[in-house]
Amino acid sequence: MQQAAGIDLWLQAAADGFGTPCYVYDLAAIKQRSQRLRQAFGERFLLSFAVKSNPNPALLEWLRTQADGLDVSSIGEFRLALAAGWPASRLSFTGPGKRDAELREAIEGGVGELVVESVREAVSASTIAVELGRQQPILVRLAPATVPKGFGDQMAGRPSPFGIDVEDSPEAIDAILALPGVCLQGLHIYAGTQCLRAEAICENYRNFIEIFSDVTDRHRLLPRTLIFGSGLGIPYHGGDEPLDLEAVGRDICPDLDALAARSCFHGTRFVLEIGRYLTGEAGYFVTRVVSTKLSRGTKIAICDGGMNAHLPASGHFGMVMHRNYPMHKVNGQGPLEPVTLVGPLCTSIDRLANAVHLPPVEAGDLIAVHSSGAYGPSASPIGFIAHPVPREIIIDEAGLRDVTPSGRRI
Ligand SMILES: *Cc1c(COP(=O)(O)O)cnc(C)c1O
Repeated sequence: MQQAAGIDLWLQAAADGFGTPCYVYDLAAIKQRSQRLRQAFGERFLLSFAVKSNPNPALLEWLRTQADGLDVSSIGEFRLALAAGWPASRLSFTGPGKRDAELREAIEGGVGELVVESVREAVSASTIAVELGRQQPILVRLAPATVPKGFGDQMAGRPSPFGIDVEDSPEAIDAILALPGVCLQGLHIYAGTQCLRAEAICENYRNFIEIFSDVTDRHRLLPRTLIFGSGLGIPYHGGDEPLDLEAVGRDICPDLDALAARSCFHGTRFVLEIGRYLTGEAGYFVTRVVSTKLSRGTKIAICDGGMNAHLPASGHFGMVMHRNYPMHKVNGQGPLEPVTLVGPLCTSIDRLANAVHLPPVEAGDLIAVHSSGAYGPSASPIGFIAHPVPREIIIDEAGLRDVTPSGRRI
């Protein structure tokens, strides 16, 4: 695997200076991604970052300069966003199982747009808002009946806990519009993710556009906001071709313009809700080899962080089978040879790579796993077997900075 020029200097310094395992996030790479996204869609979309993909507090704080809003999906993420200096008015709050206490805290705290996922939730929110003497702006999350092929994970197009099924939306939205404590300000769809095919992404967005149009007409709405759950994927495995983002932009911009030209959508904000595509490829997971072993003809390297620190790379985060993430040996040289990389846990499922081809790997070497800037520590069972938690390090103009959340220092 070819590494980005110069990154090894940083990865080595991060590991030597702050310890391993660690995650290293390159802010310049995230900035480039955000600019590329804005260019590809000609500024037609505002960008909202899905906190669940990387809730690191320092990252969230810095993202105020790169994203227009945040999407939180629990009250814990709402608090993190506020602590990172985001005004509540720039937050949306999704999630299929919001409890009344969460709704109350978010409404009281002035959340910009509550994304309601059921009539029951809208009723609860309305009751709470009335008690507080408020009217809460809401979006309704809709679950399309179909999702094109090509998405790694799907939240609609089949029975789903997320949102209101489009077929049920006429009565549901009528019921929601009758509630006194909530004010319907727009619609939200997030139907699938991790898609690398431009045509499938566009087909999916065209499906959103048709649903947004139909629902808006049917209920005579004047939406302030339409949220498009992006679905944009990143390469995770050998043979994955990166998404052609510019092709997505060229193909979908005329449809967005046609939508914006309809009088009911004058002044409507189109928002791209995005996680992994913004931060994923800007992050590396760095783990140090503790020892190596030749076992019955297979070379095994045992690393100081495995599935406990990086569950998705171990293949246990919604994947059907393990496939190696892209990775390289930091400052590695020499002929490539197959090696199996495992973590420190006493379980056979703690495996980072099967027969990955790397320069000869010995104790003390560093392995950098790519595409690790989203769904890292917070998506991993970091308490399992009580190993030290992974550090989180940022690279910015000032150099390297340890930004491990304080509650997680061991
Ligand atoms: C997880 C999530 C996202 C982000 O998904 P990515 O695949 O990381 O882009 C966006 N919106 C909602 C509602 C989510 O739950």
